[in-house]
Amino acid sequence: MSRTFPETREILAAARLEHVRYAIRDLAVLAEDLARQGKQILPLNIGDPVIFDFQTPAHLIEAAAKAMRDGCNGYAPSLGVKPALEAIRAEAESKGIRSIQTVFVTEGVSEAVDLVLTALLEPHDSVLTPLPDYPLYDAVLAKLNARPNSYNLDESNGWQPDVDHLESQITRSTRGLVVINPNNPTGAVYSQATLEKIVEVARRHNLVIFSDEIYARLMLDGEPHISIASLAPDVPVVTFGGLSKEYLAPGWRVAWGIVSGDPAVVGPYVQGIHKLLRARLSANHPLQYAIPAALQGPQDHLQETVNKLRRRRDLVMDWSHKTRRVSCVSPRGAFYAFPRVDIPDSDDDFVRGLLAEEHVLVVNGGGFGQAPGTRHVRIVFLPPEHILEPALGKITAYLEKHWP
Ligand code: PLP
Repeated sequence: MSRTFPETREILAAARLEHVRYAIRDLAVLAEDLARQGKQILPLNIGDPVIFDFQTPAHLIEAAAKAMRDGCNGYAPSLGVKPALEAIRAEAESKGIRSIQTVFVTEGVSEAVDLVLTALLEPHDSVLTPLPDYPLYDAVLAKLNARPNSYNLDESNGWQPDVDHLESQITRSTRGLVVINPNNPTGAVYSQATLEKIVEVARRHNLVIFSDEIYARLMLDGEPHISIASLAPDVPVVTFGGLSKEYLAPGWRVAWGIVSGDPAVVGPYVQGIHKLLRARLSANHPLQYAIPAALQGPQDHLQETVNKLRRRRDLVMDWSHKTRRVSCVSPRGAFYAFPRVDIPDSDDDFVRGLLAEEHVLVVNGGGFGQAPGTRHVRIVFLPPEHILEPALGKITAYLEKHWP
């Protein structure tokens, strides 16, 4: 019997990937082309502290190396090793999170997000994500055939979530909402009043809150960070944290999730999460031993990191105040600023032009989503002053050249 072949033998990628975007890395490919031509790129685009003047604390490296020497080189238990789980739980309790139903270690917050959304959603369910958003969430939702649905962050109110808008976006298919605090890309830190309003909405509509707190220790104005789960022991909350940013080890891919809430409500969901954790065997074994070292060991690097970030944030704010066509809400956490640029061109054309002519790499606001008609760029202020200052100067020069 003869076999018929389809017209094309190309192996096509799944159609749902059409909605997967990650502008942060997509633009970096263009910059690499320029770098190959010998151009020196000033990178204000990637949130990796280790490529600048921040170093992974030595006691974390030693804890991971010791675990390897001690033979922790097989698979780990699926939820994570005991000292790590205990340290994460103790830390969560110290922040006021009660009613903890499970704690687990993952390969970065990225894996935790993928796993907990996969464990929750049926196709066509939806989860409310902020606009602008860190693009991972919408990428995972696209992968799951879930419906994207966003709520506004209000630039005129320091990028706080617009909770009335959030509630108005809830439909019968909405299962959860994402809160990123401190925020990427805006650098906003949410007030207790805002967090309490979000909790109320989640409670009223029986939603799971996904609270991304990967920047919780990087508070630039000295205020304490509030974990939303601490305000609502009865509401289902998945809190994410990790070593990538606060502990300066993004390449290790070590993070965690904490599920809190009423056990009678979240029990079946927790079982689903555990099932997926077992199916992927385990997170990186020896590097998990850096978690207790991080959470319970010296925190000296943090003060130094926050001091540097505060100085660099202030530099960006000085620049924004004195640059025509630029306005910026002052970031109060993390290491991102999301200035608005008042130009007739699209923000995509702007960042491509800026890269081609001035060799400064920033990410366009559209890569995160932005209110229609507005144009933003995301500036990462991790680079030291000798990179940041000339890069900002080149953005000014580009603006003056094209829109004098
Ligand atoms: N969540 C937010 C808000 C982030 O900004 C990032 C990385 O930039 C991640 C999660 C990814 O974290 P990880 O390196 O732990 O996967």
